[in-house]
Amino acid sequence: MGNIRFLKCRECGKEYEPQFRYVCEECFGPLDVHYLEPKVNRHTFESREKTYWRYFELLPIKDKSNIVSLHAGLTPLQYADKLGARLGLKDVYIKNDSVNPTFSFKDRPAGVAVSRAKETGLKAVGCASTGNLASATAAHAAKAGIPCYIFAPSDIEHAKIAQALSYGAEFVAVEGTYDDANRIASIIGDSKGYGIVNINMRPYYVEGSKTLAYEVAEQLGWQVPDRLIIPVGSGAMLNAICKGFEELHQLGLVDSIKNLKIVAAQPHGCAPVVDAFKKGSDEVIPVERPETIAKSLAIGDPGDGLYVLKRLKQYGGIAEEVNDGEITDGIMLLSQTEGIFTEPAGGVSVGVLKKLVDEGKIDKDEKVVCYVTGNGLKATEAIIGLLPKLSAVKPDAAVVSAMIK
Ligand SMILES: *Cc1c(COP(=O)(O)O)cnc(C)c1O
Ligand SMILES: [Zn+2]
Repeated sequence: MGNIRFLKCRECGKEYEPQFRYVCEECFGPLDVHYLEPKVNRHTFESREKTYWRYFELLPIKDKSNIVSLHAGLTPLQYADKLGARLGLKDVYIKNDSVNPTFSFKDRPAGVAVSRAKETGLKAVGCASTGNLASATAAHAAKAGIPCYIFAPSDIEHAKIAQALSYGAEFVAVEGTYDDANRIASIIGDSKGYGIVNINMRPYYVEGSKTLAYEVAEQLGWQVPDRLIIPVGSGAMLNAICKGFEELHQLGLVDSIKNLKIVAAQPHGCAPVVDAFKKGSDEVIPVERPETIAKSLAIGDPGDGLYVLKRLKQYGGIAEEVNDGEITDGIMLLSQTEGIFTEPAGGVSVGVLKKLVDEGKIDKDEKVVCYVTGNGLKATEAIIGLLPKLSAVKPDAAVVSAMIK
């Protein structure tokens, strides 16, 4: 059984052997992985590989030989003094997860889930994707030598489709929303016994994302920031980051986490969690037709939406949204202050950060970590219309010289 103690229902607490199972048979609640107390301290990880597998004892793989690694993780935590100066904040960091092997944070959950699929001998893997998970799953499946089936809306960015196809995955382009693709993936996974990483392997999948908490803490010298800005699609990542900080606290690796504050950032046009939060409601009403340039966050019926609301209550949280214009402003602001080119999901994080500072909801002295989860090269169509139009010039230095100040 390795490091895994059991799977435990988040709702009723029933415990299960760590098998190919993802909902509680008593109450249909989601299952979380619980671990045997590992013998680790702050120095355990220092000298290890510079990937998220440095936290092996806290990940749900029994035997290291089953790890399928593309060397994802331990991405830069960039001190964002230039962005901070523009926003009026003194202590802002960008967790730049856009530089993972397939250029989004999804290499974390996909890598863990594909490793677990290999460990348990599944004959194929797959995912329902808004774009980034497709490539992350397909790339890890290629490295593992396991067939991969992608289910995604047909209108996602071209670069994301091309990238996923390049890894040799079977790509089912669903004419419909992410929720349609998700429903089909779920049925196919169950009927064929394939490991759909974000559905029937979800307990293992989410464990990869919690390393976004471990790394930030380690990179800050085992300090806990005052506030995290986290983009929300299904809400799995936000929930996993909270689980990550809680585990660090339980293991004595960080001191108190009681002052940690969480911000859930969503795009206007698909902000069901923000809507519920602002109404003070415990019910997340699905958005039937998401309309936003932040396609990786276009999940109308977020699987972990209710748990995001719970986390916000637990951690003095705020949920806020930004519109397409604020998202592209956020993309440009991050590029032009910090040299980090992000896709719209990152523009949502930065845009929400700016909005909350402007509204006086974030104090200028707070230590803020803003999660930037995907790369701008994957979604150039989002900003191309806003950039200067180029016209070609003759290769004549005198002409060019006359044009330049
Ligand atoms: C999937 C994704 C998210 C949202 O993650 P969830 O776990 O679905 O909330 C955020 N940013 C990017 C770039 C993504 O691909
Ligand atoms: Zn249960």
